[in-house]
Amino acid sequence: MHYFDHNATAPLSPAARQAWLEAQDAFWANPSSPYRPAARARNFLEDQRARLAGFFGIHPERVVFTSGATEASNAIFGWVRETASSDRPAVAISAVEHPCVREAAKRFFGGGVRTLPVSGDGVLELARVDEVLSAETPALVSVLAASNETGVLQPWREVAERARRVGVRSHTDAVQWIGKLPLDGLTGFDFVSASGHKFGGPKGVGFILLGPEQSGFRGQLGGGQENDHRSGTEDLAGIAAMVAALGERLSNLSPDCAARDAFVSRLKQQGAGILGEATGRLPNTVALLMPRFESIRWITRLDRLGFAIGSGSACSTGKEGPSPVLRAMGVSPEEAQRALRISAGPGTPASGWQALANAFSQAESALERDEGEDRLTSVIEI
Ligand code: PLP
Repeated sequence: MHYFDHNATAPLSPAARQAWLEAQDAFWANPSSPYRPAARARNFLEDQRARLAGFFGIHPERVVFTSGATEASNAIFGWVRETASSDRPAVAISAVEHPCVREAAKRFFGGGVRTLPVSGDGVLELARVDEVLSAETPALVSVLAASNETGVLQPWREVAERARRVGVRSHTDAVQWIGKLPLDGLTGFDFVSASGHKFGGPKGVGFILLGPEQSGFRGQLGGGQENDHRSGTEDLAGIAAMVAALGERLSNLSPDCAARDAFVSRLKQQGAGILGEATGRLPNTVALLMPRFESIRWITRLDRLGFAIGSGSACSTGKEGPSPVLRAMGVSPEEAQRALRISAGPGTPASGWQALANAFSQAESALERDEGEDRLTSVIEI
């Protein structure tokens, strides 16, 4: 199977697997317990925290391990709600957020959610950010660093800077950025959320980076682990694997985009549109608007040909309805049903992109044949 859905999840990297096994064998004790094996586990946990903090150039105290980015968003919005002054009942989020941000914002701020619009290429309009920040000072501004659906990159440095200037807390969901692009500047936010399984770590592990002024942050409550920032027994093996995976990714961050670009040219010849084409995008992601046939039909056909790709039309498999992200970019509900997402990984060879382009041609012929047969069947039925 040629795997082209890395934005959904990436396979566990060899370094992560190795780290997971070693940590599971050597440090299985509960790091909060009072005896020596637990103390060793605790030291190991702090080593992992220090290594992760080192990737970002921050103090280890600012790293909070979580179960992933969905937990992180819920915890951050919940905490901001709890601690915001009563004259700040609103939050501003971009129109292209992942559902974990959209839903958490809705849950904790309800009618106070202000949506920051994007251009046709899916990029935040900074003038509108300024308007929202000056119209009513929100408790938080939250902007996705890079889109899971389109790969479009946001001007997040500018947003963090603007928020700081007017004394508004800021958050970025950097799930798709971290492990694909350089990390410089990310720690200019008050809260950064990330997820291990998007860059070769295991599922169910992630982290929050706290800004220097957020040391009182309390997400999940309970036994007081993670310096009381996030209660719950830490998944030491998962954390070690995630840190190893990120280390591996960061040591090789310069992708060769030639094969991807050649793929894009071939798909454009087939009549496909490229979402966010005129702006900066993740090097691994191509969001296609196909001229014909619903995305599920392409996905099924390509699956049969040995290729796994993502759909751009719904939040997740089995959910109906056009993606709010594509709708915010001005894509019609009808067009959104024909959206596809291709996302490669660091190990995707150039030959894989070529094979995928060939498979698209084959799939198109097969879909045309299917349609011809369907038409014939309906004529016979009439
Ligand atoms: N944010 C973005 C941009 C994502 O792509 C995802 C994963 O689908 C998430 C958040 C949720 O991450 P997790 O699976 O760690 O909860």
